[in-house]
Amino acid sequence: MYDCAIIGTGPAGLSAALNLKIHNKSVIWVGSSTLSDKVSKAEQISNYPGFINASGKDLSEAFGRQVKEMGLEITDGMVSSVYPMDDHYAIAVGSEFYEAKTVILATGIVSKATLKGEDGLLGLGVSYCATCDGMLYRGKTIAVICSNPRFEHEVKFLSELASKVYLYTSYKNVGEMGENVEILTARPTGINGDDHVTGISLSDGTEIAVDGVFILRESIAPTTLLPGIELDGGHIAVNRSMETNMKGCYAAGDCTGRPYQYTKAVGEGNVAAHSVIDYLGK
Ligand code: FAD
Repeated sequence: MYDCAIIGTGPAGLSAALNLKIHNKSVIWVGSSTLSDKVSKAEQISNYPGFINASGKDLSEAFGRQVKEMGLEITDGMVSSVYPMDDHYAIAVGSEFYEAKTVILATGIVSKATLKGEDGLLGLGVSYCATCDGMLYRGKTIAVICSNPRFEHEVKFLSELASKVYLYTSYKNVGEMGENVEILTARPTGINGDDHVTGISLSDGTEIAVDGVFILRESIAPTTLLPGIELDGGHIAVNRSMETNMKGCYAAGDCTGRPYQYTKAVGEGNVAAHSVIDYLGK
């Protein structure tokens, strides 16, 4: 059992991981091994102390060097669910489960609104995890909504199982796909079905019949990730110690609210890590 599971490899997650490492805590740190796109894609950063007119690429490279030099390990993947147990948490990453005494949510903000019908049909044909649920759609017709090229290997995996895949990507230049993958140009606007997914509605007014919908996003809404987590105006509610309403669960960075800034994320990651250390010591 790990001391802490950190979810998210942006500045908040990195700051928490560094501080827990310095204090010799065992950590499972899950997210993208290339860290946060919101760092690498910034054109110019003028408000990060010590970095004078740096580009996002500069800051991201510095973060990457620090991850290596501090011997931090990233488990590359998306956490699809966090399960509160009696005195610890279980987190699902693909088909793997990890257990930790505490959790730090450093997941940034969900930039895309959830689709109409998505929440109600979650687990009833809507899935966020190709590895977990792909086998259920062997020989079936599915839709995949993909927000980042780094998830394309999951689309390929699904296309090897399903007989037909309708793929919508929110970026251009989609990589090579199998013959059974049809790229949609109209944007999905809703997911249809009563007790199971039956189709998706598109922005051109048409509907396509599908058996399941996989949504491969960079971030999952906090209430979907951890049902029961308390929100405040759409952000995770925390106190000054970065504690959420759930015992042993902390949050840091953009997911706790504005301003959306690197230094706030780094500061909150630090506070969350120290709160975890206090909690573990009790
Ligand atoms: P993020 O950086 O968003 O990192 C969260 C990470 O968690 C992401 O990698 C995400 O994929 C991952 N994640 C989410 N859910 C899961 C899950 N379920 N499982 C695993 N991983 C998950 N701020 C400034 O202060 N100065 C600037 O100049 C500036 N410029 C910016 C320019 C651009 C183009 C953008 C987009 C943002 C800019 N910002 C700037 C804002 C800054 O990027 C954010 O405030 C900061 O990155 C927040 O850090 P974070 O760690 O909270 O979240």
